[in-house]
Amino acid sequence: MRKKTQLIHGGIFGDETTGAVSTPIYQVSTYKQDSVGNHKGFEYSRTGNPTRHALEELIKDVEGGKRGFAFGSGMAAITSVMILFNSGDHVVFTDDVYGGTYRVMTSVLNRLGIDSTFVDTSETENIQSAIQENTKAIFIETPTNPLLKITDIEKASNVARKHNLLTIVDNTFITPYFQNPLNLGADIVLHSATKYLGGHSDVVAGLVVVNDEQLGEDLHFIQNSTGAVLGPQDSWLLMRGIKTLGIRMEEHEQNTRKIVDFLEPHPNVDSVFYPGLPTHPGHHTAKKQATGFGAMVSFDVGSEAKTDEVLAKLRYFTLAESLGAVESLISVPAKMTHASIPRERRLELGITDGLIRISVGIEDVDDLLEDLSQALN
Ligand SMILES: *Cc1c(COP(=O)(O)O)cnc(C)c1O
Repeated sequence: MRKKTQLIHGGIFGDETTGAVSTPIYQVSTYKQDSVGNHKGFEYSRTGNPTRHALEELIKDVEGGKRGFAFGSGMAAITSVMILFNSGDHVVFTDDVYGGTYRVMTSVLNRLGIDSTFVDTSETENIQSAIQENTKAIFIETPTNPLLKITDIEKASNVARKHNLLTIVDNTFITPYFQNPLNLGADIVLHSATKYLGGHSDVVAGLVVVNDEQLGEDLHFIQNSTGAVLGPQDSWLLMRGIKTLGIRMEEHEQNTRKIVDFLEPHPNVDSVFYPGLPTHPGHHTAKKQATGFGAMVSFDVGSEAKTDEVLAKLRYFTLAESLGAVESLISVPAKMTHASIPRERRLELGITDGLIRISVGIEDVDDLLEDLSQALN
């Protein structure tokens, strides 16, 4: 089955009982048992719910894994995966991971004895040198926010396998339409489904797919024990979103290419960060491991004052956190997503005061180009 078909026909298509083409929202907490333990596969909705199950089967197929899981947010998904580990274990992370991932590792899970080291995983040697005796996994995010740095998933998982470590990939920015980490050797892939998978800025959710039965059992045990499950309404909304992921990503990316072509030579733009540009350091790897470059772009207008000017003039780019929705969104990493990082460290990472990040939506690209043009001139 090809990708766009799979997004629509993957998992459990429709409803067996009624023939409904769209999986119904099973707004239910518990299920009748004919005699003790004699039920139709569902006992209690924390353990399993038919609508959530349909979503979990769908994402499992779309990522090409053995078992899928839906959580109440991307962070709930990440936390649930990280507590597969024990006190005394250590995990190596990409240094510019999502801020929430950094926070949960360094302010919450560290208190429970799960340690982490953050390195630039775009150089595979750095992963190798960060491995300690108690290291249990490598957690990579690729592409990253906001500079779209790329880690070679295949090389990273080869290093992991040599040391008996799990490879975990946060695939939020590029989506399973363009990149399937499990096929590149990863063991666990996860998403903030709040972003492209939902796609309409209307649901907060997290998804995980594992490629091993035992890992699936272990993660289900954690999901059921800790209970950060996604509700049936949100599960349904996500399935509706995923059906159009293919056409949305095609449009997102086409718009992005045109916007990058416009920004690159613009006299008021100092630099543009997009993996689709041959000058981007991760271009070659991105091209090798994904079938698209995505729709996240960052560019530098030189100073904080100029970012303020541009933001004030833009009409179609909504100033907001988050990304991956049909509407174009804009943010200033130094003042928003990365504000908690000291300025010096930010500058070391390349996150300058004049850096603007856009999540290109699927509006008519000519409107987006006109809007950027009047704001930048
Ligand atoms: C948003 C995001 C998360 C966290 O997801 P939530 O749904 O907000 O909890 C994790 N990783 C990445 C890359 C994200 O963009």
